[in-house]
Amino acid sequence: MTGIDPTATARPEIRALKPYASARALADAAGILLNANENPWPPAGDRELALNRYPDPQPAALRQRLAALYGVEESRLLITRGSDEGIDLLQRAYCRAGGDRVLISPPCFGMYALSARIQGAGVVEAPLVEGDCGFELPAGLEARAKGCRLVFLCSPNNPTGNLVAPERVSQLAARQAASGLVVVDEAYVEFAPETSVLSLLQEHRNLVILRTLSKAHALAGCRLGCVIADPAVIDLLRRIIAPYPLPTPTVSAALRALAPESLASTREHLKTLAAEKQRMVAALSAHPGIVRLWPGHANFVLVRAVDGAGLVGSAASAGIRLRDQSAQPGLADCVRITIGTPEENDALTRFLKGWRA
Ligand code: PMP
Repeated sequence: MTGIDPTATARPEIRALKPYASARALADAAGILLNANENPWPPAGDRELALNRYPDPQPAALRQRLAALYGVEESRLLITRGSDEGIDLLQRAYCRAGGDRVLISPPCFGMYALSARIQGAGVVEAPLVEGDCGFELPAGLEARAKGCRLVFLCSPNNPTGNLVAPERVSQLAARQAASGLVVVDEAYVEFAPETSVLSLLQEHRNLVILRTLSKAHALAGCRLGCVIADPAVIDLLRRIIAPYPLPTPTVSAALRALAPESLASTREHLKTLAAEKQRMVAALSAHPGIVRLWPGHANFVLVRAVDGAGLVGSAASAGIRLRDQSAQPGLADCVRITIGTPEENDALTRFLKGWRA
């Protein structure tokens, strides 16, 4: 275990901040509630959820459910509005505008760089390289990460689908302990569950893992994610998160989606998606308009087409939306294709039969 306090590298003014104490944080919601300037009556037409009351900032039932799902202690968990919010909170807590830097490895999820720029942090790039087995982190990443407050890795990575080796995460976390945090975004890890680096949290206090309910758990519309980290990091982020980030209907929907019978149906959907992915890989690889395919380890594939923009445009004309990735470094003519239901994938296959690049 790296002993350095992982909040020592955070912004000193955030470490010194006295957090806002909301009514719901100061006292539970029992008894006669005259402490939060709420309306005493629930809104007409929706009385069941007590929407007139402010929600629990971090609802106990959802915390317990997520801690059990991820196999971590509740003290290591902060529930956020999607992992987008987790990314933003980390930047705000660790990066001083105009001075601090974060490292990203493009092509990658765009919010790491965007939220860094909004915060005024510098963005250092260590672009992925193409090895024999697809994309991988470059050898020079460790040198470029020196002094960075945050290092963002994503495994499986969006949009290339490659994994990051746990040994690399471990070595990097050890090297970065005095400069900041290593953040591993596991938004897609349920599609390759054995590759999670959650177990490394015990060894590295500066390791942070992001999870989301938007992908495998089918709750993108709920906006729920989790920062999983050392309890000291979680306490720090709690100082800057909005007082009531989690709307009551969101929490209620998430509890239903995470009930044991719902998890069984999630597992079935994951199996179907894995089989469907094989089918789509076969259909796409056989097409003369596709010159390269990276199957990756998530619920999408990345392809390089003879004409990427042409593929996206023709598919759109057929009512099928694909994601052009050609603006990302090294991804000229590349398109990301999400695996859909068997019927949606049939529609894509029919479109491909008629598509001439
Ligand atoms: N990380 C990655 C790698 C993603 O691809 C996405 C969404 N596309 C997110 C995070 C954001 O997820 P959320 O819906 O939880 O904000």
